[in-house]
Amino acid sequence: MRTVIESVSEMQRFADAARSQGKRIGVVPTMGALHDGHLSLIRIAASSSDVVICSIFVNPTQFGPHEDLDSYPRSLSEDIEKASSAGATVFFTPTVREMYAKDYQTYVVNEEAATRFEGEIRPGHFRGVTTIVLKLFTATKPHAAVFGRKDAQQLAVIRMMVRDLGLDVEIIPAPIIREADGLAMSSRNVYLDADARPRAASLSRGLSRATTLLGDGVRSLARLVAEVRGAIEASDPTGIDYIAAVHPDTFQPLTELREDGTLLIVAVRFGSTRLLDNTLLTTR
Ligand code: AMP
Repeated sequence: MRTVIESVSEMQRFADAARSQGKRIGVVPTMGALHDGHLSLIRIAASSSDVVICSIFVNPTQFGPHEDLDSYPRSLSEDIEKASSAGATVFFTPTVREMYAKDYQTYVVNEEAATRFEGEIRPGHFRGVTTIVLKLFTATKPHAAVFGRKDAQQLAVIRMMVRDLGLDVEIIPAPIIREADGLAMSSRNVYLDADARPRAASLSRGLSRATTLLGDGVRSLARLVAEVRGAIEASDPTGIDYIAAVHPDTFQPLTELREDGTLLIVAVRFGSTRLLDNTLLTTR
């Protein structure tokens, strides 16, 4: 059985009915163009929920004016097939107008964590993300929502929103799913040309090297970050937006390893394609 719902009010009625039957609702917000990374999130939601809602919505407010909103890959019917096979039964696929009325004017803004790194490079991006995620929660009324660690700063900002606004939604983080050579799966990987594609594996190679060195006893964070940078620079990228060590919850830059975890984050460009990756270093 699969149900496709486009309107917010119908989605809310469906969620109310499921809740009144005592069902646990898990939601997986996506922008479509689904790959195995998304499907892993759906499987995680299915393992802990009775009803899995996959939302598919390319959210215009999280794209900057010169970004790829118009060319973002869209494949709704294939997405529904794939997500169904992974355990989603309900698809929330609103139109832009359904989510943003003509005179739309209300946004959710994180004032600190969202200003760093991705937030600095993509002004307004997280304002769009937090706003749409809250709106998706309002529509789907989930008990739990699954987000990938691939977008680590997004995960941190959403967790902060849930805490700050007191939302009654459990946020479940999901591990990064990778291609065979380590490249983190992303809907935007299709833009990498044949020359850039193998070079793009340098992000995960650099991050893995840092993890290995940590295991070998290296405790200098500067050295670990420098190793990541060396591996990435060797792949001759078009540009490096950042390579940094941060607190995984606040995205505050760190100069020393934390026992509870130091997140290494990278954002690198090959041609016009921006790739993100990260790994958590723990010394415990
Ligand atoms: P997107 O469709 O790119 O907005 O992503 C929807 C969700 O899938 C987000 O929670 C992402 O973090 C997650 N996601 C995307 N790629 C991956 C991946 N390679 N591994 C795990 N989660 C991912």
